[in-house]
Amino acid sequence: MKLETRIGYGWDSHEFRRGVPLKIGGLTFDYPKGLGGHSDGDVLLHAITDALLGAIAAPDIGSLFPPSDPQWKGADSSVFLQEALRRISEAGYTITNLDSTLILTEPKIGPHAQAIRARVSELLSIPADAIGIKAKTPEGMGTDNAAIAHVTVLLKKKENRAAKPRAKRSAQAKS
Ligand SMILES: [Zn+2]
Repeated sequence: MKLETRIGYGWDSHEFRRGVPLKIGGLTFDYPKGLGGHSDGDVLLHAITDALLGAIAAPDIGSLFPPSDPQWKGADSSVFLQEALRRISEAGYTITNLDSTLILTEPKIGPHAQAIRARVSELLSIPADAIGIKAKTPEGMGTDNAAIAHVTVLLKKKENRAAKPRAKRSAQAKS
């Protein structure tokens, strides 16, 4: 079904571990602990990837890139994001805007929010003002040793360029 717009939502969490580089939003932070688990543990890129995949009702990140598969151990999470972008483009959609909230005790995201926005803008090929990066501390949640990311994304149907090949295909089918 070719909806005019589609909303996507993604959520992810990773536990802090010593001796692992900290990557958030495609940037590496100078911090004594990083996020363990699947791939490079980039909690924000994983939530963005799942939001994009969810928007087109595609399988989620864990189904496409199983954590149990050794080839994704330590992988750069931008690889997952690029696959999600390829799929939404193939489905005939582009990103209108994206909003996110990071929940973690440390390090403070505020001073780095502009740099994260710029990097995510580059990775998604959308303007920085179409990307919301917010951060909160986990008051009363008991998740001080974790980083959590929530992401919503809005997609819109591609214009003209996507419509032309479809018209051609139906013409061929008739002849
Ligand atoms: Zn993850």
